[in-house]
Amino acid sequence: MKIIGVDIGGTSIKSAIVDEEGQLLVRFSFRIDPRKSGEETLLELGKLINKTLLDNALSPKDISGIGIGCPGSINSTTGYCDYSNNLRWENLPVVAIVEKLTSIPSKVMNDANAAILGEVRLGAAKGYHSVVMLTLGTGVGGGLYLNDRLYEGNESKGAELGHSLLVMDGRECTCGRFGCLEAYASVSALIKDTLGAMRKDPKSAMWGYVGGDIAKVSGFTAFECAKKGDPSAQKVVDQYIRFLGEGCLNFINVFRPDAIVLGGGLSGQKEALTKPLVAYVASQGFGFGGSHSPKVDIVVSSLGNDAGILGAAALWMKV
Ligand SMILES: [Zn+2]
Repeated sequence: MKIIGVDIGGTSIKSAIVDEEGQLLVRFSFRIDPRKSGEETLLELGKLINKTLLDNALSPKDISGIGIGCPGSINSTTGYCDYSNNLRWENLPVVAIVEKLTSIPSKVMNDANAAILGEVRLGAAKGYHSVVMLTLGTGVGGGLYLNDRLYEGNESKGAELGHSLLVMDGRECTCGRFGCLEAYASVSALIKDTLGAMRKDPKSAMWGYVGGDIAKVSGFTAFECAKKGDPSAQKVVDQYIRFLGEGCLNFINVFRPDAIVLGGGLSGQKEALTKPLVAYVASQGFGFGGSHSPKVDIVVSSLGNDAGILGAAALWMKV
């Protein structure tokens, strides 16, 4: 049997027919027309799925299910997109619409939760039983896979790990509270800290790295210049690792995962990110219990550009 994985993004919908091992067999996608309603966009998706099956001499009976990863507040039990700020979708019965159009059983899930499933079934978290995933991007996304099961919480609205408190009365967070991990460990926060360090040190190599253009400062700027020995860049990286490390230690103490998977743009730093992070977490005894605590592996996500499609397809994969 084959599976259809659908990755709904802010501007386009990327999909593929996938086999049980996660091989992408046929890709298909389209750009979301922002003038169209959610229902109209899903109508387009349903039509494209039907056409792709026909073009490849497949029938709905060859497909075990359609898995859909969607940004925003998604109730995987009811199959509704309750609210998606990116898409401006509200109270949209995603599963009912897609099932009606395609006659194929469908499931929808928040894209971050689909991502951790993908990593567990096919990627960097394969073989682990309890996994915490942190997606380091504009914000800090969270995912929890505990004792061999995805944990979503009430109405699938849990695992907002980025909005756990790191500093009381600390930096203002996008959620309206003060001191959340996201306000310290997101790429947006890292960029702010990088800019702060550059302003303090006009001789920093970071200025040369971005050609004097602060609009070019990214999450990679401090990491890349620290590799070349720039002390101000190194300070930014050290501080960032401490922020993220303390966040990881909180989650280690609460969930005691056997692995933490880091996704999002910054995970492209790979060992430059995980090595100092593991060293920091190890220096704190891997959380409560000190020398009696089990170690925690910290790895970067491995599904790359297809993580969204494969995570969605993983909704229909067996462990
Ligand atoms: Zn917050």
